[in-house]
Amino acid sequence: MPHIAPGQPPEDPMTAPPPGTPPPLAGGPHGPEALRPLLDTVLDALRTGAEDRHGPLPAGGPDTQAARVRTALGDTGLLPAHGTGDHEALRTLVHTLAAGAADPAHPLCAAHLHCPPLAVAVAADLAASALNPSLDSWDQAPAASALEALLTRTLAAEFYDTPHADALVTTGGTEANQLAVLLARERHGPTLTVLHGANAHHSVPRAAWLLGLPPATEIPTPTGVLDPARLAEALATTPGPTLVTATAGTTDAGLIDPLTRISDLCDRYGADLHIDAAYGGLLALSPRHRDKLTGLGRAHSLTIDLHKLGWQPVAAGLLAVPDTALLTPLAHRADYLNATDDTEAGLPDLLGRSLRTTRRPDALKIATTLRALGRDGLTALIDRTIDTAHHLARLLDAHPGFELHAPPTISTVLFRPTHADDDHLATLRRTLLHQGRAVLGRTHADGRLWLKATLLNPHTTAGDLDTLISLLEGSTHR
Ligand SMILES: *Cc1c(COP(=O)(O)O)cnc(C)c1O
Repeated sequence: MPHIAPGQPPEDPMTAPPPGTPPPLAGGPHGPEALRPLLDTVLDALRTGAEDRHGPLPAGGPDTQAARVRTALGDTGLLPAHGTGDHEALRTLVHTLAAGAADPAHPLCAAHLHCPPLAVAVAADLAASALNPSLDSWDQAPAASALEALLTRTLAAEFYDTPHADALVTTGGTEANQLAVLLARERHGPTLTVLHGANAHHSVPRAAWLLGLPPATEIPTPTGVLDPARLAEALATTPGPTLVTATAGTTDAGLIDPLTRISDLCDRYGADLHIDAAYGGLLALSPRHRDKLTGLGRAHSLTIDLHKLGWQPVAAGLLAVPDTALLTPLAHRADYLNATDDTEAGLPDLLGRSLRTTRRPDALKIATTLRALGRDGLTALIDRTIDTAHHLARLLDAHPGFELHAPPTISTVLFRPTHADDDHLATLRRTLLHQGRAVLGRTHADGRLWLKATLLNPHTTAGDLDTLISLLEGSTHR
């Protein structure tokens, strides 16, 4: 029996297509007519799912959740002999996912650099799916490739003050860091040493491993940021070509390495510099906060994520470079996508813009967001989010029941209950997850474990922060 949620009409037999007709497509002039009623079902399921969840994530933990997914699918399962129909499948699965989501739009879902996407970006992403341009050749993406070229130059110019700054669209910081290490290897050969702070994202040493380079050298960062004196020592003792990777917005604490002093050292020792600004990069748009990134534009490459402080649905990353010529090592030929005569005849060659082949037009949602919000709108979101983090830090600092690690640099707040040891703190975090009451992260700093609130929701209010603190007070005294 196909499952029909209460209050939802079954498929209307009068408008159902004759048997044997393939399901409707999303594109073309009739695509929107086919999509509209399905979207009604999707939007209803998103709403009822979020209502049924009653919080930032579902209560009950992994086993309960897995059982709920199986129960929702019922005996029909995921690949029934006969389909249940579009509306039933959408209703069942979207409702199940929404009811079982860790929803970053909830103010108490604040563990990771996991942002609540803006409605405008999601709406644009629907169009990207419907049109399905693929950015590996111009004949699959005529306008989308032109838009992507404009977008990447526009954004790169926010970080680099050079005439030919450019960027590649990536699936995120991990892919951007891999590309940065790959481009450095192509400039310097396979003896390249990657030097990074212990505060660097794990994808940096992993990229060295993936690319067959000597194991990356980790420099301890007891203060949380890369210490120029230690970096100088490492540069002085590392033989051969070197790529230094610095971080502007560490994943664990939102700290920014001393970028100018690191750039100076790279210049002095002839090392290349990559800055992983996955988290902090968009501060460059904010007149109030861009000074924190001074030196950013001196890097050979930059990682930027717009699915963090950029409020895009996954995936939205960039690798920015000061000159488009730095990207030439990625040039590649495949006769069916960029035959030499096609390129000579003026068809844009897109294959060197990624290591992927088929590629989603993530540029559309990003470009739509930039245009809809403008510089002032985006800056207001960034500034507001950072203000909220500072407010939380002040509340915790003033509270005798909590210890604040440090005022936030971006929007990450590390804190711990005053009388909790590390085990108690780890248990408290898991208990809140299990109860579905709050999603907080954890990280080690100064040899101790801390709770981490990563604030990325521009709608979070002072009242929400009071709620979080009361919840933690209640949980620590129990
Ligand atoms: C999030 C993050 C990454 C990884 O980015 P993904 O988009 O998750 O691949 C890399 N570096 C830093 C500093 C990050 O915060």
